[in-house]
Amino acid sequence: MRTINQSIWIQNHRDQIEATYYHLHSIAECSFQEIETTKFLCDQIEKMGILYSTFSDHTGLVATWRGNEEGPVVGIRADLDALWQNVDGIWKANHSCGHDAHATMVLYAIQMLKELEYKPKGTLKVIFQPAEETGKGAKAFIDKGVIDDVDYLLGIHVRPIQELTLKQAAPAIYHGATKVLKGKVKGVQAHAARPHLGINVLDSIAAMIQAVNSVKMDPTISSSAKVTMVQAGGKNMNIIPDEAVFGIDLRAETNEAMELLEEKVRKAVFSGVCFNGAEVEIETTVSMVAAKSNNWMETVVHEAIEEVLGSEGTFPPIKTPGGEDFHFYSVYRPEIKATMIGLGANLTPGLHHPNMNFDLLALHDGVQIIAKSLVKIFEKQEN
Ligand SMILES: [Zn+2]
Ligand SMILES: [Zn+2]
Repeated sequence: MRTINQSIWIQNHRDQIEATYYHLHSIAECSFQEIETTKFLCDQIEKMGILYSTFSDHTGLVATWRGNEEGPVVGIRADLDALWQNVDGIWKANHSCGHDAHATMVLYAIQMLKELEYKPKGTLKVIFQPAEETGKGAKAFIDKGVIDDVDYLLGIHVRPIQELTLKQAAPAIYHGATKVLKGKVKGVQAHAARPHLGINVLDSIAAMIQAVNSVKMDPTISSSAKVTMVQAGGKNMNIIPDEAVFGIDLRAETNEAMELLEEKVRKAVFSGVCFNGAEVEIETTVSMVAAKSNNWMETVVHEAIEEVLGSEGTFPPIKTPGGEDFHFYSVYRPEIKATMIGLGANLTPGLHHPNMNFDLLALHDGVQIIAKSLVKIFEKQEN
């Protein structure tokens, strides 16, 4: 690789990096609708002379850069989707989770390595994954065999200011496990004057909420379960209601804790709802696994961060209750050594806020950290 300083390369490409970010931001598209985003990234990858493939039944692309030498497959993954939300009174697709920044940083890390004439000692796989927000994009890529040959996998996510500020980064993000359960309750209608002839689903819901809130878990492993939605009753308030739907959001620090929490919550739901003879059906609508981060990868990325931001900018792994479908890859294929970089960006007021904002200088740090990490992974491959 040519020894021109990476930060000089970045300075020379500042305007292009920002222009790419603004372009991706302006064409924000929701999960599995990232059509223009995919097209744009295909064009950019093609210009670099790297082979890529797309998918006939969904968005996203995978580029494969083969070096001259035999070696491992190192994957770098960026997500692409935006959220559908109300921004200053207008509903629209909006990049409030920074996925436009992730795609930009991965793109320029690869371009920089190409232009500095780097040759991977193996294969570099660039994974632009759709539909992270629904938790279904990683699963789609797993089904397509995208990661079947991947040995090392790197991801990146910008962090809110409460976790990291600009010029700070961490070699891992320990996301917790997330689940959303949706339930349907069936009772019996009756005249409100004769409640004993009906089964009131609101009584069932009240008992169910009480039971869910009484679930006890080991307090040394963080977890939570709460009812987040209830819809019941009709227009007439003189009828005993016989139908209700509800939602419960579950969070846990580990996949084992999530398994136990779900079991307890399901028991609580059945015992609460059914006390008066009502019936309940539950389905899982969202499911994300907790992070399975690899220590060796964390050490390598830690070194890369230190070279870019100094020891004062290098932070220990971030623990967060948020969910991220990146972790499906290492749960599905435990042989993969994976970690996700947490990047500080002075991001306010928070991820998923309609007016989420961050300092674009973070893009420069991200490009360098990604590029250095990839080079180091190839160099140091674990024996
Ligand atoms: Zn998000
Ligand atoms: Zn995100």
